[in-house]
Amino acid sequence: MRIAIGEFAHETNTFCPGLTPLEKFQARHWASGDEIFTLHRGVRDSLGGMIAAAEADGITIAPIFATSTEPSATIAQAAYDTIRDHLIDGIKAAGAIDALVLALHAAGVTEGSDDLEGTLLGEIRAAVGPELPIVVTLDLHGHTTRAMVEHATALLYCHEYPHVDTYERGEEAIRLAAAIVRGEKRLVMYLETLPMLIPPSTTRSGPAKKMNELCFDREAQPGMIDVAFVHGFPHTDVSVVSAAILATADGDAALAKEAATDLSRQLWAMREDFRQSLPDAETAVRRALAADARPVVIAEVSDNPGGGAPGDGTHLLRALLAANEPETCFGFVADPVTARQAHQAGTGARMTVRLGGKTDDLHGAPIETEAYVKCLSDGRFHYSTPMGAGRLGNLGPMTRLVIGNVDVLVSSVRTQTLDQEVFLLHGIDVTRYRVVALKSHQHFLAGFQHLAGLIIRADTPGLTTSTLHHLPYQRVPRPIWPLDEMV
Ligand SMILES: [Zn+2]
Repeated sequence: MRIAIGEFAHETNTFCPGLTPLEKFQARHWASGDEIFTLHRGVRDSLGGMIAAAEADGITIAPIFATSTEPSATIAQAAYDTIRDHLIDGIKAAGAIDALVLALHAAGVTEGSDDLEGTLLGEIRAAVGPELPIVVTLDLHGHTTRAMVEHATALLYCHEYPHVDTYERGEEAIRLAAAIVRGEKRLVMYLETLPMLIPPSTTRSGPAKKMNELCFDREAQPGMIDVAFVHGFPHTDVSVVSAAILATADGDAALAKEAATDLSRQLWAMREDFRQSLPDAETAVRRALAADARPVVIAEVSDNPGGGAPGDGTHLLRALLAANEPETCFGFVADPVTARQAHQAGTGARMTVRLGGKTDDLHGAPIETEAYVKCLSDGRFHYSTPMGAGRLGNLGPMTRLVIGNVDVLVSSVRTQTLDQEVFLLHGIDVTRYRVVALKSHQHFLAGFQHLAGLIIRADTPGLTTSTLHHLPYQRVPRPIWPLDEMV
């Protein structure tokens, strides 16, 4: 058996100004053919899982094309067209294949489409014909549209947030595709969407955990293949926004419908439990310093590059610097100008910096202060978090500055902090600190929960705020919870 694999993943935050050009994809993750094996074999991500399952089961993989980039603005049409052509031309050039397995995101937006995945799957389906099984892995921070359900054979969303199960979904996708090819399974999907914008909610506790448990109970029923709670992506302003329950059964349409209908009713009834009320930066720092537990990890959820925010915001950093307590650190602020300045000044230099706040006004003004250059690095390390362990992180030239009593890491590349590796790279053992501040919404939990004495999530003004009514939505279908009163 021969299965083609590929990836085109982007979480589009339409509130970000400008467009995401092709170069952003090329700079971040851009691989053809065997390069896909080099980058993903042994890595705990979706393509890593696909490769592992195929190699274990004696299935031949035809690697087509893979690209992704950090969450950012609407994708330029020319970029989308180029990537789609790479995928479709690659599939055609691959020769005889029995199935196609793709890693997509489900929150992609282009200049021409609010529904990148539905549009792409439609174009691929037109190219490969109606018979070829197309199995897709996706991110629960996505939307599910009729077009996606129509053109794909199966849609396997990750279930966990932090997304620690993308590898398993990749394995599952290959094995499911193989079972379909062998004629052992005949999939039917049933989709229920709900007018909800769910603030990022971990599945390790609270209502999202409860919802997952209900889904997993259903999934264990005979004849059921997958039951997904699709959270949706709230930090975007498009017509296809929704939360969803997607049930996939083996041949039994009534079983899938009954599960999706029942679970979507339960999700709707639970909606108020998803409301979040988080402290501001000053309150979060005060609570952290008053705590006995250590280290206290403070996550600035509202400037999360993992949801499209710039990552150079200064609200939480300013509060931490104002407290000026020993054994506190911030990792990290994305500011290539300051990183370059430190590399030019050299280790041991003292310099005046204008740190962060260079992207816009919303995320806070630059901080003008004196800084000591403690060390410099190339910003390269391997992640250890269960979410993508083994993957190379490359944050460009970095520096560890000391500002007053506070250690501050500065990167050249924007991304969220997933684990302690970036701290270790700069000589910081976070377990010896009282307060560790970082930018992430929930994914950091996978890398920090086991070593944190206490976790505090702080909501400051920003593009990935949990206070959704602060965002200037214009295109999401109304009414929608929690922006509107819903009965
Ligand atoms: Zn996600």
